[in-house]
Amino acid sequence: MSGTLRPEEQTGPAVVLDVQGVHKRFDEHPVLRGIDLTVGRHEVVVLIGASGSGKSTLLKTINLLEQVDDGRILLHGADGAAEDITDPRADADRVRARIGVVFQHYNLFPHMNVLDNVTLAARKVFRTSRAEAERTGLALLERIGLGDKAKEYPDRLSGGQQQRVAIARAIATDPELLLLDEITSALDPQLVGEVLDLVRELKAAGSTIVMATHEMSFARRVADRVVYLKDGVIIESGPPQQIFERPERAETAAFLQRLR
Ligand code: ADP
Ligand code: MG
Repeated sequence: MSGTLRPEEQTGPAVVLDVQGVHKRFDEHPVLRGIDLTVGRHEVVVLIGASGSGKSTLLKTINLLEQVDDGRILLHGADGAAEDITDPRADADRVRARIGVVFQHYNLFPHMNVLDNVTLAARKVFRTSRAEAERTGLALLERIGLGDKAKEYPDRLSGGQQQRVAIARAIATDPELLLLDEITSALDPQLVGEVLDLVRELKAAGSTIVMATHEMSFARRVADRVVYLKDGVIIESGPPQQIFERPERAETAAFLQRLR
C-alpha cells in the first residue's frame, strides 16, 4: 500500500506507472534484467524487440500475472497517490481492475455474448448494477462501431471485431492504464487497420497505454515513446523520430535494419 512509500516517491498525477529495477527469471533463465520504465499520464509507450526479448513478460509483471524476482512496480492514482503493486500485500484483483489488458489471442469468453463480455468486470468487480453496466457497455460498443453486435457471441465476429470488443472490455471499467500485447499479430492483414484505428482513438481520448507491437509504422505514428528491449534489457528509449531515424545505439539500428 502507499503507506510503504516515502514522500519523495509520491511523484504526483503526471506519472501513472513506475517500473523500478525489475528482474524476472524463468527457471535459471533471466528474462527481465533490471527494467526501469516510467510512464506518464496520457502517454503511449510502445515496446519493440525481437521475439523472446521479454515484452510479454514485462506486461505480465505489470498486470501481476507474473511475480517479479527483484525490483518493484508502482501504480499512481489520478490523485498522485502511489501503490507498490508488487508488494505481496497488494490486492491483485483490485490492481487488475485499474489496469486494462488485451492479449494477442482474443480472450473473449466464448459462452457470453459481446455485451456480457464487456460488462462482466463492472458487474463482478465493481458491483455495478446490470442495467447501469449495460448502459455504459452499449454506449462503448456504439462508440467503437459495434453497437449492433451486442447480443452476438464472439465466434460470430471477425477477428478484428473480436479484438475491438476485447479492447472495449478492457476499458469498460475506465482503467488508469491499458496494456496491449501484440493485439494485431493474429489478425488477417486487412483487419489490422480497424484495431489500430481504435488504439489511435483511445490515445486521442487521453488513455495511458503500454503496448508491445511488431507494427513499426504504427509505432512510428502513434507512440510518444518507443522502448527497444533486447534480452530483457532496455537498450534505448526515446521518441519515435530518435528510435527510427537517429537511433543512438548500434543495437537499435541493427534490429531495425533486420526488419527492412
Ligand atoms: P516477447 O514477448 O518479447 O516475445 P516473452 O516475454 O514472451 O518475450 O519471453 C521472454 C523469454 O521468456 C522467452 O525466452 C520465453 O521463452 C521465456 N518465457 C516466457 N514465459 C515463460 C514461462 N512461463 N516459463 C518459462 N519461460 C518463459
Ligand atoms: Mg510477446
